[in-house]
Amino acid sequence: MPSTWRFSWDSLGWILIAAPLVGLVFAWIGHRVQADFAPLILFPILLGTAVGITIVGLIRFAQFGNRSAIFAAVVVAATTAPLGEHYFGYLSAYPGFQVAGSASSSDHSSLVRQVAPSFGAYLQAQAARGRPLWGDVVAHGVFAWVSWALDAALTVVAAILVTLPALRVPYCSRCGTWYRTTRNGKVDLTTGRRLAEICGIEDIASLHSPRYRLAVCQGGCGPMRCELSWEESSNAVSVARVWLTSEQRRQIAEVLDGLSEEFRPIDE
Ligand SMILES: [Zn+2]
Repeated sequence: MPSTWRFSWDSLGWILIAAPLVGLVFAWIGHRVQADFAPLILFPILLGTAVGITIVGLIRFAQFGNRSAIFAAVVVAATTAPLGEHYFGYLSAYPGFQVAGSASSSDHSSLVRQVAPSFGAYLQAQAARGRPLWGDVVAHGVFAWVSWALDAALTVVAAILVTLPALRVPYCSRCGTWYRTTRNGKVDLTTGRRLAEICGIEDIASLHSPRYRLAVCQGGCGPMRCELSWEESSNAVSVARVWLTSEQRRQIAEVLDGLSEEFRPIDE
């Protein structure tokens, strides 16, 4: 199902509000966690993965299906997270910013605010001080900036990689829901061949451990989708996805309902 960019207020809300919020939440978590646990390379990947999973969860929950907007939201959230981490680092370096409000400390905090550098100056100072990488290796100046940029890039790439498979799931634009698996499981070879035959899948050289997955939209309006996967003799897994006609759907139900207990599918 191809998706083209369609403007909608929904999309704008996701990109301008939901995505930066998710990014900021993970920026704060990342900022706190990094004090104790900050493995090089792995940390931004974990951060990006968490951002991606959260966005996917949210779009499923909200049944939001504009793929271009989701993609943009993932990029925005995953960029906000590492940037926000620096910002929270900046805030915690000048606690005077946070104590403002109580009468006794207001004079003091306004003093601190006066001497606190800008965020940019803070970053520059951090870069000049150097970022410890591993052992005695410390990235100074421009190298510190490069290492931060790499962190951000890794975060974004990880978030995108997590999101892409979720975006491959069909979305029904009539009832506005993501397709959900209704039935799936392993079948024996004979049943596998029979399912392939019903679906009109012909290019099967050798069929091993076939599995099927049936999915429909939640409004039940679109056609059912059947995904058949099997192992080739080379251990590579092949997948075929077919939109079922009502006749194919009926035949498949008949085959699956007639299965022995061992292969009886578990309804989700
Ligand atoms: Zn539907």
